[in-house]
Amino acid sequence: MRALVWHGKEDIRCDRVTDPGIEDPRDAIVKVTSCAICGSDLHLFHNFIPAMLPGDIMGHEAMGEVVEVGAEARGKLKVGDRVVVPFTIFCGQCEQCQRGNFSLCQRSNRNKRLADKVFGHGTAGLFGYTHLTGGYPGGQAEFLRVPFADATHIKVPDGVPDESLLFLSDIFPTGWQAAVQCDIEPTDIVAVWGCGPVGQMAIRSALLLGAEQVIAIDRLPERLEMAEAAGAIAIDFSRESVIERLNELTGGDGPDKCIDCVGMESHVMPSQPDTLYDRGKQMLGVETDRPHALREIIYVCRGGGVISIPGVYAGFDDKIPLGQLMNKGITVRTGQTHVNRWTDDLLRYIEEGLIDPAFVVTHTVPLADGPEMYKVFRDKQDGCVKVVLKP
Ligand code: NAD
Ligand code: ZN
Repeated sequence: MRALVWHGKEDIRCDRVTDPGIEDPRDAIVKVTSCAICGSDLHLFHNFIPAMLPGDIMGHEAMGEVVEVGAEARGKLKVGDRVVVPFTIFCGQCEQCQRGNFSLCQRSNRNKRLADKVFGHGTAGLFGYTHLTGGYPGGQAEFLRVPFADATHIKVPDGVPDESLLFLSDIFPTGWQAAVQCDIEPTDIVAVWGCGPVGQMAIRSALLLGAEQVIAIDRLPERLEMAEAAGAIAIDFSRESVIERLNELTGGDGPDKCIDCVGMESHVMPSQPDTLYDRGKQMLGVETDRPHALREIIYVCRGGGVISIPGVYAGFDDKIPLGQLMNKGITVRTGQTHVNRWTDDLLRYIEEGLIDPAFVVTHTVPLADGPEMYKVFRDKQDGCVKVVLKP
């Protein structure tokens, strides 16, 4: 089959590789009809997350048709079923899975011990996402082996297009969980940093959950316009001071709830003059080498507020103003998404027409164009917000 394969930093190619087969009785094989490139894939593309190996197959947002089912998965799945595959692999039986903490499954990441030891933060197994998360071949491919497939699948109806369902694999529940974790109240002003695909889902989720106002922060006009179309107020951080504008919009209090949908993308942004990062050096005596959305968020969040962090961080991230966090009594909530905790509700919202996540798709191309699209998505060229690949 053909698949997008990691060869090294900023080197992804469409290669011929061996077809996957059933390895465990709980496995299923899915013929991928659509898959997407995620901001998390960019962290792997930049080699920010360790333990990618040449030959690894990329991709953790995929859907398609079941073509083979292992003996123990047969009660739950059959050949011909249309499924979305959550990016988190989970057994459904361990203590964390029983609590609904699927992204912390204790059994699905075969390298969890190593990841715990090296970084102290082993997650569940993740598709296409480094050997620290199990080294499972990903879904930017013609076929995908789904371990624990009896638990790890979302059955979806015919008659709804792939683009409306595909994001149940990751970014829709990710934006949703990020907003749910804010415990939104009707008077809340929610600010969302980063208007990429995850930010877009978080903005709409915060509004669906009843926020009084959402404020969207980015520098890319097409992403800010998408946020405004949902009803958000936009702040372009390349043109104005985010902190001053947020204070102005909140009567000096700061947003009640803040969502970081930037993650390590902060590290690849050009330095911004006249921002907290520079002022912070004088005010806090903090020597910073990089702009950092999270630092800005902690600084401006209202006392007693909540900061929700779906943005991905790996390893250590230094110079975070813990003193502000502590003295302002801020609650921080974060994590990889427990995808299946939310999907029954979210699938219903799609079917009822409350939201159609397909609005983020700007580029639909054949799988073979994937390597080029990694660059287009990374560089935000050509108005790119979300890329869907058709194997
Ligand atoms: P993306 O790279 O398309 O979006 C990031 C956006 O942040 C860009 O639009 C960029 O312009 C903007 N940005 C950069 N610096 C900023 C700053 N200082 N202030 C405001 N905006 C800034 O990526 P995405 O697909 O939307 O993903 C966003 C993050 O979510 C990534 O870190 C990704 O790994 C993470 N993610 C987490 C989960 C999870 O389970 N927690 C799931 C999916 C994605
Ligand atoms: Zn993702």
